[in-house]
Amino acid sequence: MSEGTARIVACPNCGRAAKWTTRNPFRPFCSERCKLIDLGEWASERHVIPGSEVDEFMGSELESPQLD
Ligand SMILES: [Zn+2]
Repeated sequence: MSEGTARIVACPNCGRAAKWTTRNPFRPFCSERCKLIDLGEWASERHVIPGSEVDEFMGSELESPQLD
């Protein structure tokens, strides 16, 4: 098994391909943003915040320059 072989997983938040490597500290998410959003949704569920919106985050930059 070479470290150069990256496993590709679907980001639990946005469904984009995310590299499951030690170089991706946000795995299994594709980016820090998605990881934070997921944690935010957890918090939202716990606190039951009405009208909580994540669309603006999901629609914006999901690329992480650190993925490669
Ligand atoms: Zn994502």
